[in-house]
Amino acid sequence: MTEARTVVAIPGDGIGPEVMASARRVLEAAGAPLAWVEHHAGLRAMQDGDPVLPEATLEAVKEHKVALKGPCTTPVGKGFSSVNVQLRKALDLYAAVRPVRSLPGVKTRFDDVDLVIIRENTEGLYSGVENVVTPGVVMSMKVATEKACDRISAWAFDYAKKRERRKLTVFHKANIMKLTDGLFIRCSQAQADLNPEVPYEEVIIDAGCMKMVQDPTQFDVLVLENLYGDVVSDLCAGLVGGLGVVPGANIGNSEAVFEAVHGSAPDIAGRDIANPLALIMSGVMMLNHLADTEGREEMRAAAGRIKTAYNGALEDGECTRDLGGSLGTSAFTDVLVRRIQS
Ligand code: ATP
Repeated sequence: MTEARTVVAIPGDGIGPEVMASARRVLEAAGAPLAWVEHHAGLRAMQDGDPVLPEATLEAVKEHKVALKGPCTTPVGKGFSSVNVQLRKALDLYAAVRPVRSLPGVKTRFDDVDLVIIRENTEGLYSGVENVVTPGVVMSMKVATEKACDRISAWAFDYAKKRERRKLTVFHKANIMKLTDGLFIRCSQAQADLNPEVPYEEVIIDAGCMKMVQDPTQFDVLVLENLYGDVVSDLCAGLVGGLGVVPGANIGNSEAVFEAVHGSAPDIAGRDIANPLALIMSGVMMLNHLADTEGREEMRAAAGRIKTAYNGALEDGECTRDLGGSLGTSAFTDVLVRRIQS
């Protein structure tokens, strides 16, 4: 029997536990040889009297290298820095990768979207450097380092080459933020020079957003600094059916944490109506990552079975409400499990 690969599950908050239960059922049904260890973060960790990012959770991800994570809520108020930002920084998960693709049976204005968003995950305006200058005047500092700008563009070019993508576009605002975004595009240009086989372009982000909603097929791989990547990910999700269908991976040099682009969606939590597909797809990315990095081809095979199942279900209109269907989270999960097993 194939030895199970231990991976960390962090269910998170809001719809997190529901979509995590669904994703685990689907990955198990597909025969992925995984052994899960569960750890908490966010509000769920605080319920146990722990900090929002407990040391044990961090250590487990460091030990097992790979985690599937639900969305985590950071309490609003003084003294709490974002769980997600803390995790990405603590493990130096500098590249967020978000494939945004049209899905069969999911009707939107476009039926041929195939984008990959690569977001710098560790700095920019998410560095958390905010000050009260004087009462009524606050400031937030946008940080860019040559090291981080350079490694994200190098990573993105490498990704584009390995996956034989069409081109790489940087969205930026270097005409206004001459130093920070200026550094970002200078580092990208240097990588473009080193990788002449990948067509490269730079687009000012506001014009880029307009072009994107007019015709997303003119873009392929997008590279963005942290805040732009966050915003453009949701914009692009809207092109393919919404946040319920966009997965993601946060990748560093030794660990990788797979999570959907969506947040904890408190408005629909606990009602069995959330679409688990984005986390299931993140699980598929995790299986392919294990195949790529550890040569575990049985993981790739399981990923393929899951993809076939959800493509088939969507094509037959078997989906959750956000995609125009009528199934709840568990009923949709049942459909996928049945399809995988048949
Ligand atoms: P957070 O503050 O944790 O990021 P949020 O409510 O600001 O949460 P999201 O959680 O990303 O942002 O959700 C935005 C909206 O999109 C939600 O109100 C919800 O209705 C919808 N949504 C997000 N994820 C899903 C999903 N998996 N299935 C169905 N609807 C979803």
